Amino acid sequence: MATTQITPVPADSLESRRYNRNKRWLGFADAVIGFVLLAVLLATGWTGWLRDLAERGAWQNYSFAVFLYVLILMLISKAIGAPLEYYGFRLEHRYNLSNQKFRSWLWDECKSFLIGLAMAGIVVELLYMLMRETPQHWWLIAWAVFLGFAVLLAQLAPVVLFPMFYKFEPLENEELKRRLIVLSERAGTRVRGVYKWHLSEKSKKANAALTGLGATRRIILADTLLDNYSDDEIEAVLAHELGHHVHRHILKSIFVQAAITLFGFWLANEVLRYAVETRHMFAGMYDFADLPLLILVSTVLSFLLMPALNAYSRFNERQADRYCFESVGSVEPFISSMNKLAEQNLAEKTPARWVEWLLHSHPAITRRVAAAEAWAKSH
Ligand SMILES: [Zn+2]
Repeated sequence: MATTQITPVPADSLESRRYNRNKRWLGFADAVIGFVLLAVLLATGWTGWLRDLAERGAWQNYSFAVFLYVLILMLISKAIGAPLEYYGFRLEHRYNLSNQKFRSWLWDECKSFLIGLAMAGIVVELLYMLMRETPQHWWLIAWAVFLGFAVLLAQLAPVVLFPMFYKFEPLENEELKRRLIVLSERAGTRVRGVYKWHLSEKSKKANAALTGLGATRRIILADTLLDNYSDDEIEAVLAHELGHHVHRHILKSIFVQAAITLFGFWLANEVLRYAVETRHMFAGMYDFADLPLLILVSTVLSFLLMPALNAYSRFNERQADRYCFESVGSVEPFISSMNKLAEQNLAEKTPARWVEWLLHSHPAITRRVAAAEAWAKSH
């Protein structure tokens, strides 16, 4: 008998398969509805009718009309997407993954709508102001502004945005703090803080992340993780997050985003120019009835780039995993935390190859565990 130890691949439960399949259908339906809505608005010319409505409502004030148009568009898409979002809320409950009451969910929906409206409002106003003032170079200036906006958002997210939905507090656990300091010193770096993320008010799932930029950079650990995992397991999770920091993954992702959005804005300019000059669909680029076309370009581009961006993210995750093995020096806590996470979050440990390739930002749990075992064998 061969004595080579092969860890058996745990089969995913029927429950986990069903849950993840439902979630994929949900995401797919959501994308299709968004796409169809934009296409219909453009093909039927209803977008022009909505623009006229916004202009009348704004007493011909251009900036206010742009805002009204954004508001109408967001209300329509919210109304059409609401049943799916409610289904998503029910789905988490059906699989016993959520603690959130309906009222709290509804309140979160309202908040995200208002935040989305404020952000979209600012961005769209700026875009159309640039199109009016500098029709030749609007896309280049827009890109530079967008970049500044992305950096600002990354910085503000953990201190302004996340606290609107969850409570955070500095981690009190002295033993974990001590371990983190040792890990940080080994990395020759400093993390500005570790925060307990009160996720259990809304979810039974566990999670952890590195967030922020510069002074707001911090590791957040869900209470659902802190309460149920051993110190060794939490240390492995911390080391993984520290790996993201050491490899500067947030900054690198911003650079990648910058390159993509530069191309995206250039493409949007070309498409809009074609629609205006060749197809005479709009009076000019500044005609905000062309907004659905602008969104359509960015939606299609993000969809096409999804496999590449997910592959890049999985590469980063593998790097952070390796960092974790090296700094902790043993892989057992990592492996047990991975298995626990999969169990708790009802994640598929072995998703279909195409699912992982197309949709997953993290490598499959079985692959991460296999990498850990391979690392242990070679060290
Ligand atoms: Zn990670």
